[in-house]
Amino acid sequence: MLQFYLSVLELQTSVCAPIDASRWVAVSADPGGDTPRIQLEQLPLDELSVEFSTFCREMPETAPDPVSWAARAVTRAESRTQVDLLLSLLTGGEFATLGGALACEPVPLAFLARAFLSPMAEALSALAPTGAPARAPVCPQCGWPPQVSRLEDESHTQGMRRLVCAFCAAAWGFPRAVCPACGVSGDDGLVFHVDESLPHLRVEACKTCRHYLKSVDLRVLGLAEPLVDDLATPELDLWATEQGLDKIAPNLLGL
Ligand SMILES: [Zn+2]
Ligand SMILES: [Zn+2]
Repeated sequence: MLQFYLSVLELQTSVCAPIDASRWVAVSADPGGDTPRIQLEQLPLDELSVEFSTFCREMPETAPDPVSWAARAVTRAESRTQVDLLLSLLTGGEFATLGGALACEPVPLAFLARAFLSPMAEALSALAPTGAPARAPVCPQCGWPPQVSRLEDESHTQGMRRLVCAFCAAAWGFPRAVCPACGVSGDDGLVFHVDESLPHLRVEACKTCRHYLKSVDLRVLGLAEPLVDDLATPELDLWATEQGLDKIAPNLLGL
């Protein structure tokens, strides 16, 4: 799976990186109110469906069969359907109907849209103004839930916790002892599970809502890459599943 992820990164570099997202900052940025600061559904999805089709056509051979199947179906689909797939991902829509129309499973369709759009979300998130530090449980830039939590020492705070967005990779400060899924802290809140072979990682699991996410301690391993570490440690997800825990946000590979 990690091999497949690396080939997806290469594909993102060749197809998505050349798309100049900076020209869409004006349409996508919303600096006011409680809404996320970037409005990705405002992107010119008609225009992007051309590159999305290329992205699906060039899906690497290392892809799992359901992904290859879905990628071929999207490549053959009409541009209206391709736009609908992208819009579904950006508006939290469901993929079952589109999956029915394309004769493929919903999960790989969502994967294709997310893998294609996340580099643009990342670029726009980095360009959009960041306002006052948020303490929200969802990404202040794009509104997606956190993928992973990271701990590091900062000038004012030892062991500062930041949540890293599952879509645009923005990081924002969040209280250390609070569950991002339900807001509970204290005795009914988070418990931590550490695997001895991975000392810089731990599973933060909530006793109340039974959700979890992984936490990467950059003070233990300064060169750790939280989003990659999350993908590279399926054994921790397996452990969590066995405990009856649900991840707050599955990563790109669906773990
Ligand atoms: Zn985000
Ligand atoms: Zn909780």
